[in-house]
Parts: sequence; C-alpha cells; structure tokens
Amino acid sequence: MEICPSVETVRACVARYRAAGESVGLVTTMGALHEGHLELMRAARREHDRVIATIFVNPTQFGEVADLAHYPSDDARDIDLLKGENVDALFLPEVQVIYPPGDETIVETTHLANVLHGKVRPGHFRGVATVVARLFNIVGPDAAYFGEKDYQQLQVIKRMVRDLHFPLSVVGVPTVREADGLAMSSRNVRLTPEDRAAAVVLSRSLQAAETLVASGTTIEALGEAIRATIKSEARATLRAVDIVEAESLTPYSGAVDRPTAIMISAEFGGVLLIDQREVQP
Ligand code: AMP
Repeated sequence: MEICPSVETVRACVARYRAAGESVGLVTTMGALHEGHLELMRAARREHDRVIATIFVNPTQFGEVADLAHYPSDDARDIDLLKGENVDALFLPEVQVIYPPGDETIVETTHLANVLHGKVRPGHFRGVATVVARLFNIVGPDAAYFGEKDYQQLQVIKRMVRDLHFPLSVVGVPTVREADGLAMSSRNVRLTPEDRAAAVVLSRSLQAAETLVASGTTIEALGEAIRATIKSEARATLRAVDIVEAESLTPYSGAVDRPTAIMISAEFGGVLLIDQREVQP
C-alpha cells in the first residue's frame, strides 16, 4: 500500500491507475478504524479495480476543541488494517495540506446542513461538506463510499455531489454493529464499561421502533416510544430524536406511510453517539 502525504503523491497514484484503465473507489475516514470502516473498503473493493482510503481528522467539523483533542488516533494500527484489506493507497495529509494558509473557501448545503443533527452541532455539516469536496477534488474517484450510520452526512454529501456536479457516484453502506447491536464507532472506545453497556439502548429503541412501524403507527407515537425507551436508561442524555422522510429529511406528521428515517443522538458520560434506521411502512 502506498502512503501518500501530499496532494501530488496521491494524484500521481490515481494517474497511474487511470493510465492502466482502472477504476477508483474512495473511502474517507478520520482513522481509529473499526469493522464499519473496513466494510466500506470491502464494498469499494467489490466494485472497483483500485481502492484509496483517506485518514484525516478534520478540524472544521468539530464544534468543541476538547472533542477534537480527544479524538482517538493510531496510524500504525490503521495502516495494518488497511493493508489487510488490500487497500491500494492511503492519503494521510497534515492539516495544512487540506487547509492551506489563507484558506477561506467553504462548501455548505444550506438547508440539509442546518436541520436535525445540524442544529445540535452547528457548523458540523459545513465542515464535512468542505473537507469531502476537497478530498473529492484531490483524488477524483469514480465512486465514494459512506456509512448509513451517519445518515444526515450521507444525504448532505449526495446533495453536494448532485448540486456541484461532481463526476462520481456516492454509495451508502449499511451500519456495521457490535454483537449486542451497538453501532460501531471510533468514539465507542471512550465509553466507560457502564456507559458501553448502557449505549445499547440506542439500537434497542430503533429495533422496537421498527416493530411498531410494521404494525402501523404514527410519527408522534413512534417519537414518544423512542424517547421513553431512551429515558428509561439513566446513563443516557437524549440530545435528539428526529423522524423524517428518508433522503429529503423533511419532517411530516400522522401515519408512518413512506420510507422514513429515524435519527437519534444521545450522550453517555459526555460521549456523543448517534444511530439511525430507515424504516418502510
Ligand atoms: P468516520 O471515521 O467516523 O468519519 O467515518 C468514516 C466513514 O465510515 C463514514 O462514511 C462513516 O459513515 C462510516 N462508518 C462509521 N461507522 C460505521 C459503521 N458502524 N458502519 C458502517 N459505516 C460506518
């Protein structure tokens, strides 16, 4: 696996692949890799000749300095994991490579970035769109793979790619979970054992929600049921439950009668976790 620290080195890799007529799949990450990330690498590998991964802890998507400072990082371990997945090249830039001195250009999906989780984390999705646009421009892949766990992020990126006419497709990959149902996340390592056990309430509440939808329910009843389940777990501090039309992320009311996304965020001992599920009536 080639490790590329600069724009020039990663572009040289891509140019070689292109010259050989090979297609390129891209997986962007912030490192601290787990099975969820590796599943994205495998999805890219199934559909492309070459897979490029990026590891970049993007400062512009963190609201709180402390959250950024505590973000886990272990490049040596991550590199071994990527080699194990036969990833062809890793783009591993320093902050000033992505954000050169005097940097002033941002990308924002003006509506999608500022609803739902975007209200809980102001500026977060602007930071995500800005870094992903830069990574797309640097690498120039045929397709990019993102987890459905970060559901709003996936919709923001799909919208940005459509609106700015990026010549690539965006592929969503189902959430990879621990045996007890907790969505895998780089943040999970920061949970105490008690909070780790409590955090399963997120996936449990989504599972119960899916059962309710299957038997016919309303948005309001669904929201109440999820809130009650999460409040029954004393270690959880609920931040948001959003139940919206899938993809457009538009709220609606009454009977659950269309593809619907349920998005939850909650804190456990100061660690913000999210989970989501798309349900069909
Ligand atoms: P991150 O390193 O947290 O920025 O995540 C990098 C990519 O991995 C994003 O597209 C995430 O949505 C995706 N991802 C993170 N956790 C999971 C998971 N448990 N299952 C599937 N994809 C995931």
